[in-house]
Amino acid sequence: MECPSDETTSEDTVTLEQIVTDQQKKHDAMSAPRYMDIATFMRLPLIADPASYDLALIGVPYDGAVTNRPGARHGPREIRSASSMMRAIHPLTRLNPYEALKVGDGGDVPFKEVYEPEVAHRDIEHFISTFSAVGTQIIAIGGDHSITLPVLRGLKCSEPLGLIHVDAHTDTWDEFMGSRYTHGAPFRRAVEEGLVNPKRTVQIGIRGAQNSTEGWDYSSETGMRVLFMHEVEQIGIEGVIEEARRVVGEGPVYLSFDIDSLDPAYAPGTGTPEAGGLTSREALKLLRGFRGVPLAGADVVEVAPPFDPTGSTSALAATVAYELICLMAEALDPNSGEGA
Ligand code: MN
Ligand code: MN
Repeated sequence: MECPSDETTSEDTVTLEQIVTDQQKKHDAMSAPRYMDIATFMRLPLIADPASYDLALIGVPYDGAVTNRPGARHGPREIRSASSMMRAIHPLTRLNPYEALKVGDGGDVPFKEVYEPEVAHRDIEHFISTFSAVGTQIIAIGGDHSITLPVLRGLKCSEPLGLIHVDAHTDTWDEFMGSRYTHGAPFRRAVEEGLVNPKRTVQIGIRGAQNSTEGWDYSSETGMRVLFMHEVEQIGIEGVIEEARRVVGEGPVYLSFDIDSLDPAYAPGTGTPEAGGLTSREALKLLRGFRGVPLAGADVVEVAPPFDPTGSTSALAATVAYELICLMAEALDPNSGEGA
């Protein structure tokens, strides 16, 4: 009996890029069985040339700045897998964002070092800027919330952005255990660095007891509109949408979505869960309320698959990412989609 040889000729050597290209030639990803092939975000093509895409989904598998339970470094891979479940046409608007925009998977940030947050953050900023420099918009998939700061830096916007921040936590705390760059601090640093305009910032879903009010105080003192969960309950999601749109006004806006804004009943797979959060329905309704807001970038962060035994948190994060893609499509082309 002949054994298969281990030897390969150069003709037999197949690169990952070739495999992906062959897959794309073989069939239309939107009609092929969704469980097949190498998982990219939403079964989109893997981007080789950022300049030829309108929008890139970029994985940021980094959780070196958490103050408690790690695990969000596994977020991008699990969300890619869960996103294979997603389809194209929006149930409410009938928009197919993949027809409106050329969307692709930008791959993961290639980290050189991960044990120093400030060094890892430079890798993130650099990778994001390779897309923003050629005019390709991005949605970052985290990763812990510290990644939002280098993403904002990498966008290299000419003016401080408005901010819609959905989270259980304000993430405006200062130094913690010797670092100013934890996942509890990105928006404080973003204000200090002139990346975000606090007066055009709204924080939605804030809750949970704290050992100090420092972060909450920083947000209010700099003029951010903080919608604690009890106020969200009082004014309802429609009231929240109206207030958020009033606060961010007309200019460009970054949308940052921490999955712990949801109740742990819906999103258990996260490092710092807080009881009493949004339902999945409320979160999706909230996002749909931001149609037409000019988004300069967005992210979904803090999905920690080790705490997500059923995969429900990753599936929800994939749906949030899809809604963000639709918002981006509508922001770039207001005529896309139908009424509703
Ligand atoms: Mn956060
Ligand atoms: Mn949070």
